Amino acid sequence: MDKTESITLQSPKFVKGSQWEGYGYLPWFKKDKKKVTILFNFVERRKSYFLRAHFDRYGYIYRDLGDHVYEDVRWGKEYGNRMECSPMYFTSGSIIKNLFKLQDETGFSKEDIVKKYIFLGGGGQCGPCRYGMYPQEYLKVINDAGFRGFRILIFSSDIVQDPQPKGSAFTFGLPFKIDILCAIILADFMHIAECALRPYAKDKQQALAAIEKAEAILLQAFRSPFFLITVPQALKKVSLMFASIERHDKKLPKIFVTGEFFANLAHNEGNYNLRRFIMDEGCEVLPGLFTQRVLYDNWRRSCEAKRGIRFSSSIKERSFYRSSLRKQNVSTTIVKWFWKNWLKSFNPAAFGGHADILDLDYLAECGRPYYHPEIFGGEGNIEIAEAVHYADTIDGFISSKPFGCMPSSGVSDGVQAKIMSLYPQLNFLSIETTGDNEVSILSRVSMLLFKAKQNVNRKN
Ligand code: SF4
Repeated sequence: MDKTESITLQSPKFVKGSQWEGYGYLPWFKKDKKKVTILFNFVERRKSYFLRAHFDRYGYIYRDLGDHVYEDVRWGKEYGNRMECSPMYFTSGSIIKNLFKLQDETGFSKEDIVKKYIFLGGGGQCGPCRYGMYPQEYLKVINDAGFRGFRILIFSSDIVQDPQPKGSAFTFGLPFKIDILCAIILADFMHIAECALRPYAKDKQQALAAIEKAEAILLQAFRSPFFLITVPQALKKVSLMFASIERHDKKLPKIFVTGEFFANLAHNEGNYNLRRFIMDEGCEVLPGLFTQRVLYDNWRRSCEAKRGIRFSSSIKERSFYRSSLRKQNVSTTIVKWFWKNWLKSFNPAAFGGHADILDLDYLAECGRPYYHPEIFGGEGNIEIAEAVHYADTIDGFISSKPFGCMPSSGVSDGVQAKIMSLYPQLNFLSIETTGDNEVSILSRVSMLLFKAKQNVNRKN
């Protein structure tokens, strides 16, 4: 008999356990409100700085964790899963770095830290790439670092219903949504001021000190329960202060930076302080406005709702999408109302500031031939559309893409190659933010700036 005939195949034996449901933690109820400190940060320092007003007005104890720094990435990589994108490492690493720091400062045990603190921050679904992974990744690093059961409050642009149970000490209700929107707008305004004054002020240190003073004035105004009155007044005051700063009358090359929102809008080590580097190298940079990103999220969900209404297979489904569309329309109206009205008081033109928010329907049409506007994830079609929009008017265009980002790789390294062939005049550079390698990335940026300066000199 052939030996092989005696081999009988057996099914593998395995015992199916219960489904893994992710990391859990206990809710934070109202009775413990004053026993717990909220630790928080959100993309960059100025946003969390202005968000302090919300916690002050509603009587929370809090600690602002501030900006992201390179050290966050190292913590994130040590405790996180392999091959995450760099924003995931920055944000998750920042949480555990701060938990260990707290332990050192207070002498509390890990169990005490779990009871006495809670983390609040952003981190939702950025698109098809890391769909739903942020909160679980945060909990993974926290649990692996030994802070078992530590609680987190995570918001994203997709919060439709408050995920907190009834009786919670903290809710993501309308007051929080309005306050975080206002915090984002105020942070954008201060960024506009920095982009206008840093490269042009005769005394850079005086300009930076004025911005710091303005931040304190605005926070004070925003803390008031009557902030709808006090903030516009404060904005007028700081605008006059900025307008009084002496500026050089010279023409600097204009640089535009875009890309995945963290790599583009974390005005800190999350993107090598890119815009500050460009300004300090003698160029002007257009501000990177988070409000544009908020409007894009609303626009994206409106597109989804319109498609849902068109292809819905039941009345229930259709009414779900109709209600979603209504919510997006209301939200967009509120965002635009605050932006327009507060901008009027801030009056950036008085000190040479730019505050351009591009129309999203227009951008969709600009980029449509090369990247369908309804392919969502990361920044979707925005970056392609901006390259087309700015091709003839900008001296340098940088696409900043995080390490490990799937949507951004497809755009920055893929579709932009086509745009370059169609618009060879665009001085384009794609960089990857990894949280290390700063010298080599910034030296590539320097080369783009050198070319931009040459172009401007040639034109003059
Ligand atoms: S868009 Fe890219 S960088 Fe941003 S969260 Fe998703 S995978 Fe990460």
